[in-house]
Order: sequence, then structure tokens, then C-alpha cells
Amino acid sequence: MYKPNQPVKTPGVNYQDIIQEVYQKVNSMEDPGQPASYIPELETVDADNFGVYLTTLDQGAFGVGNCYEAFSIQSIAKVLSLSLAYGILGEHIWNRVGVEPSGTAFNSLIQLDADNGIPRNPFINSGAIVISDILLSNLENPKEDFLAFVRSISKNPAINYSPTIAASEKAVGFRNVALCNFIKSLGNINNDPAEVLDFYFDLCSLEMNCKELSELFLFLANNGVNVFDKSAIVTKSQSKRINALMQTCGFYDESGEFAFKVGLPGKSGVGGGIIAVHPNQYAIAVWSPKLNTKGNSYKGMRFLEEFTTKSQLSIF
Ligand code: GLU
Repeated sequence: MYKPNQPVKTPGVNYQDIIQEVYQKVNSMEDPGQPASYIPELETVDADNFGVYLTTLDQGAFGVGNCYEAFSIQSIAKVLSLSLAYGILGEHIWNRVGVEPSGTAFNSLIQLDADNGIPRNPFINSGAIVISDILLSNLENPKEDFLAFVRSISKNPAINYSPTIAASEKAVGFRNVALCNFIKSLGNINNDPAEVLDFYFDLCSLEMNCKELSELFLFLANNGVNVFDKSAIVTKSQSKRINALMQTCGFYDESGEFAFKVGLPGKSGVGGGIIAVHPNQYAIAVWSPKLNTKGNSYKGMRFLEEFTTKSQLSIF
């Protein structure tokens, strides 16, 4: 079992000192970002929250700031829905969704027509909507089964959806409605679009804190194996491929910049959360609600850039 706040050291690197130093530096910077406002409920969160939590495979853990406060993980949940669907469908999943960065906005409709309704990747909204459709077709009780999957990975029964956030997004999610209907018209949605969207809005509304998020993603640092009970959540090859997709498509239209500056696979969400994974080492979660112009947490990006620079460890 993981014991929080144990000294966090990899030979030659003191993560704990680096986190503390970088946190202070980034926290004192001026933050030009703005919280997401297109989902009204996300704007009600205190925009000055800033939390970081690192969990290593050798049972080290360390957190600073608002790392125990739950937030809406939004698109970060797309990695979890992909993991579940990939485990069910195997490589057939790539008949329904691609593996290329889109180079367009996360909620863009423009490529779908030319691509015959096959979204460029599973992390843009259109791709995650198709993954939601796959899960609806393959799970008996999609909402309950997906939550059980997430809870089982982290051994954390407290993780839950936020009905308030889901309802807030549902009330204004017209672009997602358009995306789902458009893909349906192109033949790549099998279920009733209203049901697909309900499930999609629910999974985006998952809430957890940085500690829980970093623990949840450890399986992707561990070749797909659950660190708690040693069960395989995805295969080693699938874990590699999910990490590759996070590396190339995890940060909207700023994925290249994240690879360039941070050098880790990761995924962000419009709630201001970022998860990053160092395979065979750790998972680190950062949360700060103010987003830069590309839709990624301003402080989260700055923190991770400084963190991997100072630790001199990345996948490259
Ligand atoms: N639920 C959000 C949407 O569909 C997720 C966006 C995100 O975090 O990237 O717009």
C-alpha cells in the first residue's frame, strides 16, 4: 500500500526538493491565464488553486499546495475511457479512431467530413465521443462500469462523477451535440447520440485531487500493470501506445510544445489539471485552473517544464 509523503528520491535526484523549489517559483509568477468559462460551473472554482502531487513506482509520494482538493479532470478522463475501450476491443479500436495529432481545436468539426467520420485521435472531443460510443456498446451499465474501472485502478472508492458539472456542460454542450450527430451521420456512432453524449459528459465530470490523479495514472508508468494489485489494466504494448498518444496528442494544439519543453507523455483538461507520466518512474499531477491561450493550465505547464528541466529526467 502507498504511504504518502515518504521521502521521494531516485538515485541522484531529490524530487521533493525540486518540487518545493519549482512550486514556489511558479506560484510567485504572474498568471495571465483565465479559467475555462464555456462550462459555467468550472468558473465557480477558486482560480488561485495550485496543487502538485508526485507518486513514484518505488512508493515515494510528495504533494504541495492544494493537492488534496478535488477538481474536475475533464479531458484527462479521455485517457481512462480509451484504456478501458482499448482493453475491450484491442487493435480493432483503430478502425474507429485515428492516432494522429489533429492540429485543430479540441472541439473542431472541420476534419471530420474529409476523414469520413473517423476522428484524428481519441483525445479530441470527436475521438472521445466515438470511444464513449464503443463503451456504450460493450458495457452493461456504462456509467457504473466505467466508474468501477476507475475506482479499481486506484483502489479508491471515493472517486466519483460530479452531477453538477455534467449538468452544467450538458446545458451548453452544443458543439459536442453537433460533433456526435455529425459523426452519426457519417456512420461512426452506433448508439443513440443523446445516450452517447450523456455518458461523455458524465465521464468528463469525474472529480479527484492531485494525489488521487497521480496514483490513478501510475499504471501507465508501470507498463499497464496496476501497482496496487499487480493486475494488468492494459497490455505492455497498449500502455506504450497510450503513452505515445498522450505524447503526441495530449495537449490540444500545444502537444508539440509540451513534448519540446517537458518531454513526458501527459494529458490536460480544461478544469486546469495535467497528468504527466515518466515510464518506469512516476506519475505527477498538477492543477491550477487558469488556462493559457491554448487551453492548458498556465502554471501547470510552467511547473512541469521547470520540473523536468531541474530533475534532468525526461523520456528523451
Ligand atoms: N468536457 C469538455 C468538452 O467536451 C472537455 C474538454 C477538455 O477538457 O479538453 O469540451
